[in-house]
Amino acid sequence: MAQRATLPPRRITRSSLARFAYTGRPNASTEKPQGNHGNSPDIEDVIPDMTASSSSSSSSSTLLQKRKRTATTAASVPRSTPSPATRKIKREPNAEISDEAEVKIETISEDIATTSTIPSKPTKRQRKPARKATDPSTGESTISPPTDWEEMYAVVQSMRKEGGAASNAPVDTMGCERLALSTASPRDQRFQTLVALMLSSQTKDTVNAVAMRRLQTELAPHAPGAPPGLNLENILAVEPARLNELIYAVGFHNNKTKYLQQAAAICRDAHGGDIPDSIQGLVALPGVGPKMAHLCLSAAWGRTEGIGVDVHVHRITNLWGWHGKGGSKNPEDTRAKLESWLPRDRWREINTLLVGLGQTVCLPVGRRCGGCELGLRGLCRAAERKKVLEGRKLRENVAVDVKGDTVVKVKIENERIEEVEKKLVVNKAIKDEGVDAQIALVKGEGLGDEA
Ligand code: SF4
Repeated sequence: MAQRATLPPRRITRSSLARFAYTGRPNASTEKPQGNHGNSPDIEDVIPDMTASSSSSSSSSTLLQKRKRTATTAASVPRSTPSPATRKIKREPNAEISDEAEVKIETISEDIATTSTIPSKPTKRQRKPARKATDPSTGESTISPPTDWEEMYAVVQSMRKEGGAASNAPVDTMGCERLALSTASPRDQRFQTLVALMLSSQTKDTVNAVAMRRLQTELAPHAPGAPPGLNLENILAVEPARLNELIYAVGFHNNKTKYLQQAAAICRDAHGGDIPDSIQGLVALPGVGPKMAHLCLSAAWGRTEGIGVDVHVHRITNLWGWHGKGGSKNPEDTRAKLESWLPRDRWREINTLLVGLGQTVCLPVGRRCGGCELGLRGLCRAAERKKVLEGRKLRENVAVDVKGDTVVKVKIENERIEEVEKKLVVNKAIKDEGVDAQIALVKGEGLGDEA
């Protein structure tokens, strides 16, 4: 008793006991604590050996044991530790899937100091819209672009590339710039581009493409022996009722029938049968506004003198907060604001870029922020938080790696182990349908459409 009183107090914590229980020794969890601990190694002496052996013994460890250890480790790690712990779960090739399927878990890093589950604090971005700045020495005013605009622009460009979340938008194949027939003469191609733009307002690209195809194939020739199809002469010669019938699918087709024939007459009388080659000339045509004029000048004449701002460009740049407090009032205001700072070499492409984004991801109703890189990277201030969090979770936790047709690797966070257990049971149910069905299931869950 006297000897016991002189010994320093032993440090016994829950976490230290949990580590003892994790040794994998058959009796480790059932050993009774020694009264004086005289023969037990100190907990600090044990930790390095246990961590060193954890990877080798991991295959025989049960899921439950791993979870206990993780919880203990996380509690003992200092808050300053930066990276979250990551685990890999592997299924052996051709392994039978059953309720008792053994899940192999490997800890990627054995260093306790790097296994914290405490996420590092996200850095807060400072977002500033485009703003006027005056140089005090010269008194000259310039417009500073919005913060991060280049990064955002590059992200959208990558999303719009083949395989990206915003690829294959209707505008890429059925946009007005692409509807003129390549077999037509250059003059007729320009006229067809103008007609496509005039028909496109308040109309979906898909519907517009159908109406254009009808005009190109069904418009009768204005005179015997003349070529049929869409050209200035045939538009002038056709009966309004017939023209109205051909473009019936587009919005405001009655007005557009009138405007098309009036615009064709102006082109014949004031521009030698061709379309105007200036913004002023184009906006003078009935039914043609500045947006159409800028797009037409770019597409038909290859000259870009301004940005074609349609509803998508107007809506999305306002969502991003590029135009400052209160935003821009209308598409024309948006155009003026964008042109004040956006480099000229982007003026033509920004329309197709943002129209495609607006048609596929940043929809007017039901935006898909969970699949949008801008939201996932914290670049969009209008991102819907719930969707982004769901998207991030899916991206972190459901990563599928297919090697040949037999190996499926699912990477998950520690706290999602229970879900993987459930997933394995689900997989058992579809086992008979083969690995492809399982991959499809996991991929389908990972890429859910939250719209
Ligand atoms: S994060 Fe959402 S709001 Fe922002 S651009 Fe993407 S889809 Fe649009």
